Amino acid sequence: MRAVLPGRFQPFHKGHLKVVEWALERVDELIIVVGSAQESHTLQNPMTAGERILAIRETLKEYLDRIYIIPVPDILMNASWVAHVKTYVPPFEAVITRNPLVKVLFEEAGYKVLEPPAFERSKYVATNIRAMMLSGDPSWKEFVPEPVAKIIEELGIIRRMRELSKRD
Ligand code: NAP
Repeated sequence: MRAVLPGRFQPFHKGHLKVVEWALERVDELIIVVGSAQESHTLQNPMTAGERILAIRETLKEYLDRIYIIPVPDILMNASWVAHVKTYVPPFEAVITRNPLVKVLFEEAGYKVLEPPAFERSKYVATNIRAMMLSGDPSWKEFVPEPVAKIIEELGIIRRMRELSKRD
């Protein structure tokens, strides 16, 4: 079975990694849909789709023979979103998600929904990780896989966020 895993991955954190590992125990191939691909350079979406793909790919090196990583921009019509996603990705039979909107849309389109458990939700929340990055709290690095931390530093994502926060 092949399944899609949609997310914004701003940034890809250790909770996302646990979801990927949980999914790979249940499906043969996983399509990681990098959603809101058009978004970048904001405090909520600091990284470009390409930067997020790089971070995810570096983290999942050992699984890449079973994984696709595909960017998909948002559209204004939720009711048409599943059809839109289908045009970007290989054929699939299921979705991996905890997001209620994503769940409803794929269920209504006739797909199987696999819902992973919450993995240490108090720690692994992208909003909190971005807040730590912006405030200069170095502990953000504990919450993302090491390759993600390295790429965020190399690409100057925190400096970008600080610059943006001056006017955001
Ligand atoms: P996300 O916050 O990056 O999360 C991706 C998935 O990982 C979610 O199912 C999330 O569940 C799960 N997750 C995160 N941390 C976890 C943890 N610690 N333990 C277990 N699961 C965890 O992304 P998202 O908001 O779901 O992304 C949906 C994407 O689809 C967005 O880009 C959105 O714009 C797009 N979309 C677009 C349209 C449209 O264009 N009309 C419509 C629908 C969706 P939680 O929900 O529990 O965090």
